[in-house]
Amino acid sequence: MPQPPAAPDTRTVLDLGERALVERITAKLGSRPWVLVGPGDDAAVVTPEPRTADVLTTDALVDGVHFDLRLMSPEDVGHRALAVNLSDLAAMGARPRCALLSLVLPSSTTIEFVDRFLDGILRLAASEGVAVAGGNVTRSPGTLVIDVTAVGAVHPRRVLRRSGARAGDDVYVTGTLGDGATGLASLRRSREDAGARRAPVAEVRYRRPEARTRAGHLLSRNKAASACIDLSDGLGDGLRRLAEASGAGMTIDAGLLPVREEVRTWAALQSQSGASDARGWLELALDGGDDYELLFTASPRARGRLRGVQRLLGDLPITRIGQVTKDRGLRLLVDGDARPMPGGFEHFR
Ligand SMILES: [Mg+2]
Repeated sequence: MPQPPAAPDTRTVLDLGERALVERITAKLGSRPWVLVGPGDDAAVVTPEPRTADVLTTDALVDGVHFDLRLMSPEDVGHRALAVNLSDLAAMGARPRCALLSLVLPSSTTIEFVDRFLDGILRLAASEGVAVAGGNVTRSPGTLVIDVTAVGAVHPRRVLRRSGARAGDDVYVTGTLGDGATGLASLRRSREDAGARRAPVAEVRYRRPEARTRAGHLLSRNKAASACIDLSDGLGDGLRRLAEASGAGMTIDAGLLPVREEVRTWAALQSQSGASDARGWLELALDGGDDYELLFTASPRARGRLRGVQRLLGDLPITRIGQVTKDRGLRLLVDGDARPMPGGFEHFR
């Protein structure tokens, strides 16, 4: 018989105390064969994967800046905290192996939140084969901060960098664009107006971004990409960074951008209804952010290898959206008309 769900634990981290909290968290963490010493000692000890280089990345989520608990669940926050790091590993062509988790918690944080947050992060860790090998809990005088460090492995000669794009290469993107921004806007709108039209697929894509781990690994293993980056701050930002690192330019055709029908329809309805913050589908795709797709370039000689990658990926689409140019600068083709690439999101704006 299925067990009834346990009642949520309404105690706070202050009630429980740091030691008991750490024990509670540690008891939930699984292990992996490559972790020699896991949580509970002074540091984790991990066996390196033969003939690979370690790939390390870290990313913090700050309550009120990177997530809003009125719009997403604690499980969503846990998922996101790991997914954004796995996305960076994927962009390097690395397979993820371990993660470290640092929680900076206000005393009023409930045990229920911690439990549900861990469920979110550990479910993703299990499905991606990642060991959460250690971490730390600290008291915060104010905001809740979640900091994750992730470690992956890649063959040293298969690293995907931002700097490898060359004139004549094609520009590609995985999945669809604009979902993250649309999902967030839809969640916000539905809080103001319960009857508002929703964008349900985009909302899930916002709450549970999927790191393109397999795509990154296959692009790297099959030497199919010349440069790669993951899209956290929108396509426009990704293009600028790739172009800058490679010392090249790019021309992108707006008509080729993979934007799902739900996003186009939702954006059109917002502007028809005269919403003050309405953005068109193109703006959502270019400047939206939170899509965590891979943006990469590939030389025309690699097209056969890229088709092989596409076959192995199955349902995840890879779409050609433009070309790398010798002259620097980013151009956007709209109905055959070339214009400079608009805008860009800045963290400190
Ligand atoms: Mg990145």
